[in-house]
Amino acid sequence: MRRDLPWIDHPDPWAILVSEVMLQQTSTARVIDPWRRFLERFATPAALADAPLADALAAWAGLGYHRRARDLHAAAGLVVTRFAGEVPSSLEDLRSLPGVGPYTASAVASFAFHAPVAVVDTNVGRILARAWANRTLGRAEAACESARLMGRAPSAPFNQAMLDVGARHCRSRALCEGCPLVRVCRWRREGGADPAPASAGVSRRQAPFEGSRRQVRGALLGEVRERGPRTLVELHRDLAPLTAQRLDDALAALASDGLVEYEGDVVRLAGSRAR
Ligand code: SF4
Repeated sequence: MRRDLPWIDHPDPWAILVSEVMLQQTSTARVIDPWRRFLERFATPAALADAPLADALAAWAGLGYHRRARDLHAAAGLVVTRFAGEVPSSLEDLRSLPGVGPYTASAVASFAFHAPVAVVDTNVGRILARAWANRTLGRAEAACESARLMGRAPSAPFNQAMLDVGARHCRSRALCEGCPLVRVCRWRREGGADPAPASAGVSRRQAPFEGSRRQVRGALLGEVRERGPRTLVELHRDLAPLTAQRLDDALAALASDGLVEYEGDVVRLAGSRAR
């Protein structure tokens, strides 16, 4: 059964590009509300390109991995200057945008422009390895297999159906009951070791968030996003359970990524005006 997600069949390529960037490292359920808010604030690439980077970072609240907001802001600038404000349709042009890798380019080309390209994410990689091959598949093999299955079918509905089956059923622990592929699935029929984990494109389980560097970076960004520019002393005081070394390391990494900037000992979101 098809998932009911607001960006599916959306007529605006910009809305689809934003959704795909958000979905790169954030689960679907956590993307829906931020995606709506982000598009209300930045309805076009030009609206985002015209805004300070700090506004894009602030609108990214709740999604994590803020480098994506930085890259999307830069991509919006390129869309305006190089593509007359319209999200480009070719894979090559899409790949030229910051933060747009092979998967995201394929997804935007298929879902926004109906280009005949296969979209293979982690879950689709599992389906291909389990249901069609019943063996480990390399990256190129998985893409070829998906393109072969798609044949001349319209790409967007085909790719969406694969993503939906992957998200609902062919997860790391397969939920085969009710899967529409259960009758043709080779792994179900033939058995053997699960071929999915070693297949290309099938990601490993992410390290726990609690206690991670991501958590420290998120806490620091949250402070300067919610409370405005903060001195180093204030940050160390207010995030005290975290050690000074961890905070300093995370701040250095955030500055190196262009997400925060210093003015003396004051830290603020990159691209925000000094108070
Ligand atoms: S039947 Fe099970 S293993 Fe096969 S594609 Fe469906 S969920 Fe995956």
